Amino acid sequence: MIPFVDLTAHHRPLAPELEKKLRELLESSQFILGDEVARFEEEFAQYIGSRWAVGVGSGTAALQLAFEALIEPGDEVLVPAHTYVASAFGVSHAGGVPVFVDVRDSDYALDPERLEAAVTPRTRAVLAVHLYGHPAPMDEIQAFARRHDLRVVEDCAQAHGARYRGQRVGSFGDAGCFSFYPSKNLGALGDGGAVLTSDEQVRDRVRELRHLGQRVKNLHESIGHNERLDTLQAAFLRVKLPNLERSNELRNAAAARYAHALAGNGLRLPQVARDCTHVYHLYVVRHPRVAAIAATLERAGIACGVYYPQPVPCQPCYGGEGASGAFPVSEQITRDSLALPMYPELSSEQIEEVARVVRSALAE
Ligand SMILES: *Cc1c(COP(=O)(O)O)cnc(C)c1O
Repeated sequence: MIPFVDLTAHHRPLAPELEKKLRELLESSQFILGDEVARFEEEFAQYIGSRWAVGVGSGTAALQLAFEALIEPGDEVLVPAHTYVASAFGVSHAGGVPVFVDVRDSDYALDPERLEAAVTPRTRAVLAVHLYGHPAPMDEIQAFARRHDLRVVEDCAQAHGARYRGQRVGSFGDAGCFSFYPSKNLGALGDGGAVLTSDEQVRDRVRELRHLGQRVKNLHESIGHNERLDTLQAAFLRVKLPNLERSNELRNAAAARYAHALAGNGLRLPQVARDCTHVYHLYVVRHPRVAAIAATLERAGIACGVYYPQPVPCQPCYGGEGASGAFPVSEQITRDSLALPMYPELSSEQIEEVARVVRSALAE
């Protein structure tokens, strides 16, 4: 049996430190905000290279609060058609209107060539998603945003530590939104998220919105949310953050082994664009017969998955089947992509085994 991710193996060496954090918190009873949240925010902002981080309840909340800080209800936001639904939910929850744009086949990011055609007088922002751990083309996206005076938000939920021209993603736009869902490259032991920004107004607005609209206790400036990052999760994240670079290196080593073991079988393997570092949140391969490969893997006890089985605009909540046909690249990806097991602890023997089963499926 080879799982898709192995959080138990990942946390085992950290257990004594994590348990210590829980005991300390039981002693202090500082369960909401406080020192652990503030210190995690400082450490994570420094790691990413933004001035501030504001810890929130999830990646979805990070996107929602960032958009509430940056747009007005009714504003249009350009969103990639191929991403996790939560990317678009952040826009919708903030009262914005997601306008879906097809992605590029090479890196699964917003296609800079398709952006111009999607702009209307109501367009206010663009959401760059660094999907699977590969950076979106920020030079092109930022140049486009400057031409049309748009705000830029990054969805970094799959790309903690990925670099574009040497700079970590999350530090390019007006806001960088992270998720600490347990299986992400940096995961909590529950839900969590953060908005990274170097804009003081965005920082203050997100701090207010996450905390029931108050800047000063009992003075509610806006109808805010209860979307604070849990103090216990912040404490756990402080234990895990120093391991992130090493974990990302191990993911890269696993990807290199996969590339070696799977080469020459007609599969399209992940590509890394120039000046980018990939952090392989997911290892996604492409082949016309992925359904057969998936079935063979499952019979062999090897987990795999399709990320994602439908373009976001084809989900019922955004119009369903009516949208099909409009996003040919995204639709093609849903038909021929398959994610193989990927996590820092994946061993070379496991990779060889996955590759052997994939080869046998292709030979059938
Ligand atoms: C996981 C994820 C989110 C949502 O994060 P949650 O913490 O689960 O709310 C948003 N966007 C992308 C691309 C994700 O992978």
